[in-house]
Amino acid sequence: MSEPSVFTRILQGEIPSEIIAQTDRVFAIRDIAPQAPVHLLVIPKSADYRDVVELAAGDPSLLAEMVELAAVLAAEHADGDFRLIFNRGAGAGQTVFHVHAHVLAGSLSEGSLGG
Ligand code: AMP
Repeated sequence: MSEPSVFTRILQGEIPSEIIAQTDRVFAIRDIAPQAPVHLLVIPKSADYRDVVELAAGDPSLLAEMVELAAVLAAEHADGDFRLIFNRGAGAGQTVFHVHAHVLAGSLSEGSLGG
């Protein structure tokens, strides 16, 4: 068994972080190191999927639920427009291998990924 991910530990209350929204299967927190005026993470409660490719193959409806919550949060925290980023693999910058979507919103510039 591998160690629980940082996101599982947040969900279980072992690491402090405000859960800003949740459904039965998905929850959202603020990224601890924001790269945009609004930078949220939308995360499945289950740690079964390491990245978005595994998730899309294994449970596409859960992926759709993540996108749905991202849209709701972008409307609540910004003007409804948002950028959705999934890092897949260490070479792409993935550091937490419990699939999560970065939701970036609020005055994003066109040229860069983050802000
Ligand atoms: P990634 O690099 O795509 O795996 O994204 C992991 C993200 O998790 C990074 O943007 C981190 O800033 C964020 N992160 C790591 N630990 C925490 C934490 N305790 N609370 C909130 N966000 C975190």
